[in-house]
Amino acid sequence: MIIVMKADVLPESDEVRQVIQMAERYPDVHAEVRQIQGSTRSLTEIYLLGSTTSIALEPFEEFPAVEKAIRIRERYRSIGRHDRDEVMGFEYRGIEFSQDTFHVFPGLCAVDNRDNVEAMFRLLKDRGIRTTRAGAYKPRTSPYDFQGHGADCLPFVFELAGKYDIAVIAMEITSEGHVEEIHEALESAGNPTGVLLQIGTRNAQNFELLKVVGSQTDYPVLFKRGMGITLDESLNACEYIASGGNHRIIFCLRGMKSQFGDPHRNFVDFSHVPVVRRLTRLPVCIDPSHSVGKKTVAPDGLLDIHHATAQGLIAGANMVLVDFHPKPEEALCDGPQALVFDEFELFMNDVELVRDAYVNRCKLAQPAP
Ligand code: PEP
Ligand code: MN
Repeated sequence: MIIVMKADVLPESDEVRQVIQMAERYPDVHAEVRQIQGSTRSLTEIYLLGSTTSIALEPFEEFPAVEKAIRIRERYRSIGRHDRDEVMGFEYRGIEFSQDTFHVFPGLCAVDNRDNVEAMFRLLKDRGIRTTRAGAYKPRTSPYDFQGHGADCLPFVFELAGKYDIAVIAMEITSEGHVEEIHEALESAGNPTGVLLQIGTRNAQNFELLKVVGSQTDYPVLFKRGMGITLDESLNACEYIASGGNHRIIFCLRGMKSQFGDPHRNFVDFSHVPVVRRLTRLPVCIDPSHSVGKKTVAPDGLLDIHHATAQGLIAGANMVLVDFHPKPEEALCDGPQALVFDEFELFMNDVELVRDAYVNRCKLAQPAP
């Protein structure tokens, strides 16, 4: 059961204490308080754990400070919608992330050198984009492939982010030490930018890593769906993050490993955008680059990457992670799927067109006044 407190009732308030006191009078019931920081306000929720099935909702709803009491019928206790019609997002570095917002994160799959990072950030600044991706730690199939420059590249990546007004960088981490390295490098650079800690598909069920990013609240998390597990398993993985206290999570669809996806690198799963939005309160990202994995062109002149992007956007995706590179032939990771700078305008114009179409589709679905 979840007791949702009225707006701006703080976790340490007397009102919350009174509700907990009453809840814990029931045998085998334990209460946990969670504060969810939204972009405009915070929300306090009290989770009643244990034998709650026979407890009535009404006595809790009689407290003046209680908004409502909800019985959790479905799974996903923390990230699920349940009967909550209000779906809160979060704000990070002045940027709002929710199921109503939309952001593009074009950038380098892997940081290779300073010149290429600078060229990328300059392109974004010229287009007024303040969000990007940049991989420092690369989990690779072969131990002989480029593994990323790691902590060595962080100082120049963060310095250039400050120079080009980049507010948020999506950056994959594969161990607890990487969070500390990122934190130290950001502090040394004077915190010129923010980092979205990316959990890659290969770590989707690395429960210890999930607990690490879930128990810190400095950085939001971009969780990439496991490539070979069910959607339910991936959503439960997000519960590991949220139940640790960090509710600032974005769920990213990136395709499923299956030969049925051939000739694409993965089977594009963007029809699950509305499913994740329905089942959870999380903003949903798509990664067309790692889903499609190559730059094949359809007869209409658009790349398969454009088409996959459009499929996600028309279904309501809130974020797009996409690989660009000034010189893909020099890229140390995933060059063949990276779009080049000459393709930037077409990509962005297409994205804007399809997002507008999605917004108009939503208006069609509204009841007539
Ligand atoms: C990436 O985004 O660089 C990446 C490795 O993605 P994924 O974990 O989805 O393969
Ligand atoms: Mn990649």
